[in-house]
Amino acid sequence: MRSQDYDRLYLSPPHLGRHELNYLHKAIEDNWVAPAGPNLDGFERDICEFTGAQHCVALTSGTAAIHLGLRLLGVGPGDEVLCPSFTFVATANPILYLGATPVFIDSEAETWNICPERLREALEERQRQGRRPKALILVHLYGMPARLREVLAVAAEFGVPVLEDAAEALGARYEGQPLGTFGEVGLFSFNGNKILTTSGGGAIVTNNAAWAQKARFWATQAKDDAPYYQHSELGYNYRLSNLLAGIGRGQMELLEDRVKKRREIFAWYTKYLAHLPGVTLGPTEPTGGRSNRWLTCLLLNPAETTISPEQLRQHLETRNIESRPLWKPLHLQPLFATTPCFGGNICEELFNQGLCLPSGSAMTEADLRRVTDTIQDALRNGN
Ligand SMILES: *Cc1c(COP(=O)(O)O)cnc(C)c1O
Repeated sequence: MRSQDYDRLYLSPPHLGRHELNYLHKAIEDNWVAPAGPNLDGFERDICEFTGAQHCVALTSGTAAIHLGLRLLGVGPGDEVLCPSFTFVATANPILYLGATPVFIDSEAETWNICPERLREALEERQRQGRRPKALILVHLYGMPARLREVLAVAAEFGVPVLEDAAEALGARYEGQPLGTFGEVGLFSFNGNKILTTSGGGAIVTNNAAWAQKARFWATQAKDDAPYYQHSELGYNYRLSNLLAGIGRGQMELLEDRVKKRREIFAWYTKYLAHLPGVTLGPTEPTGGRSNRWLTCLLLNPAETTISPEQLRQHLETRNIESRPLWKPLHLQPLFATTPCFGGNICEELFNQGLCLPSGSAMTEADLRRVTDTIQDALRNGN
């Protein structure tokens, strides 16, 4: 570690509170290091209480949750799954794990999430071919609610079930209802950079009791109910440990506070940057939507600015400030070179013009000032 790394501003580092250690202590004192245990049950209960979902299964990652969620929806070899192109690759990889094929859909310019019009086009085109995609993965990128009303109406009209990837959106709401509870199955991630973290973890939520039981069964190697090791179905080792669930319990106590802080960070960036020519902060909340503002993003319009997002990123780096490009659309990834995409211009433009700014909930006003001063400076001097 270079000495200057101590004052490095990271994009979204973990932010622990005061009670995580108590839950960890208790687990070790009581010898509940393995297998599952009280923290795991408690963490699942906390998530149910916060979201209003009836069932929760805590898992080793958000990716594992997507994998199990798609399997619950019956996705298998040869099926098609609709998915936004503008998302992290972890949204789409489990489609491939199951031998299915993604069909990518462009974003809309407001929330940056899946465009209901392009989605309809894709479904109409598939219908003309006599095909029906097996599922839709709906993502709330950067914690921003998608245009849920429109998207869910299109999915329902064509009879396509929804898996809600709320990995980045814990604590965000739509018409007052927590995200993650709008699809047949929803999921969260507790990876190190998310709004809450267990260092690594994830969870599925659903109101379907049989599905929750199935997910728990698959996540623990699909052991049949027999005194010996017997297996009738394919399983995985996906269950979260009771230790990490203890960190999760401590973190859940802080959720509302963390959302409030991240929203304040967005407001700060807006106040000090939005007036600069060519600068837009985003994404934008849809009617009825309340983002958790997991990450604040900045767009630079090349017609009005003299520096590119990459030049700005490098300039921030000289002041030891981490920033990152927006997600590179999946239809542009070599891994998905032959995968169809409906539209694509909107998310390509977001990728070309955007930069994610430090948004960690532990940032101080001095930290924020350091970022906004640096950006103002860069835009003023054209570098
Ligand atoms: C982080 C993330 C995931 C995966 O979660 P992990 O816990 O890292 O496996 C999935 N989808 C999106 C949109 C994410 O940001």
